[in-house]
Amino acid sequence: MKYIDEFRNGTIAINLSRKIDDLVRGLDTVTIMEVCGSHTMNIYRYGLKKLLPSNIRLLSGPGCPVCVTPTSYIDTAIAISQKYSQEVLITTFGDLFRAPGSTSSLEREKARGASVIVVYSTLDALEVAKNNAGKKVVFLGIGFETTTPTIAASIIEAEKRDLTNYFVLTSHKVMPPVMEALLRDKELNLDGFLCPAHVSTIIGSKPYEFIARDFHIPCVIAGFEPLDILQGIYMLLEQITRKESSVRIQYSRVAKYEGNPTALALLDRVFEPCDAEWRGLGIIPGSGLKLRNQYERFDAHTIFRISDFGFQINSAICNPQSAINGCICGDILRGVKLPADCKLFGKVCNPEHPVGACMVSSEGTCAAWYKYGEN
Ligand code: SF4
Repeated sequence: MKYIDEFRNGTIAINLSRKIDDLVRGLDTVTIMEVCGSHTMNIYRYGLKKLLPSNIRLLSGPGCPVCVTPTSYIDTAIAISQKYSQEVLITTFGDLFRAPGSTSSLEREKARGASVIVVYSTLDALEVAKNNAGKKVVFLGIGFETTTPTIAASIIEAEKRDLTNYFVLTSHKVMPPVMEALLRDKELNLDGFLCPAHVSTIIGSKPYEFIARDFHIPCVIAGFEPLDILQGIYMLLEQITRKESSVRIQYSRVAKYEGNPTALALLDRVFEPCDAEWRGLGIIPGSGLKLRNQYERFDAHTIFRISDFGFQINSAICNPQSAINGCICGDILRGVKLPADCKLFGKVCNPEHPVGACMVSSEGTCAAWYKYGEN
């Protein structure tokens, strides 16, 4: 297949791996973190760690949107479906459907009779709202800068269509603040970031410049194919060995310095920054997006008066061990533990019966280890 195969060429991969080996021979351990679930998956799928010398340590960070969504968010969605069972339809993407909250998941609640519909796009959710005029339709809006513009577009479209029964339960995240939090984490000692590719196609490379300037940590925006990732690692190592730090773009066929101005304008029109909870990482200032006041009527938090629910929906916020017994997803998302450190991995926790979010999502680190091995 033209174009894809070019980025999976084994001979070029081995040559790149030799160049990397030459570059870092004799160096102490270099720790690079990828903060993108698709990078994580492809690193495992293509066995890329085996192509790297032993003094390069690749860590997977909080790059999977379902994995970083706190249990309290799932608890809130379930609580809405229970408290307003006669009037609410919950719509969600499939990956969140199975994600565990404190005591249940939307999948389990649906089996018990809750009105939960899996949709493939926000436009599907709008259709559900149109076809169920007597119900309040709540879309579960999670994800990074990549998906949030589509949710912004759905709100503008709902306004255009005069839909008064469409609401979004927002838990959107933005990447640069969590990368800063990781750099401030004393348990981590990162030497470079492989920046998230999908996110970077939207935000561009500029928002990472503070990382190179203030923390002297090099960043490379790399694509998803094996050669993209290897070249991205090589571009990071070039900077690390020269003691340089800048933001470079390997994925130049898609990601641009200025990002995607149309998507950014859409984001800015509908959303504004807020603090956000991340599973395992707690509350990170400025790392979330909430609806602007003028779109408040679409905000499920306001409409359902979630702050009045009277139960501890935020109980898991500051507990890095997560609220789920024995699950160490939080530490895995911070890059301080590996799936092999979890005593539940592969025993009671597997993709068929996931205990934590990192095993539910196809982009989760535990799911990648389970599917492709330690690598
Ligand atoms: Fe959580 Fe399962 Fe991963 Fe353990 S293996 S950290 S229980 S998702």
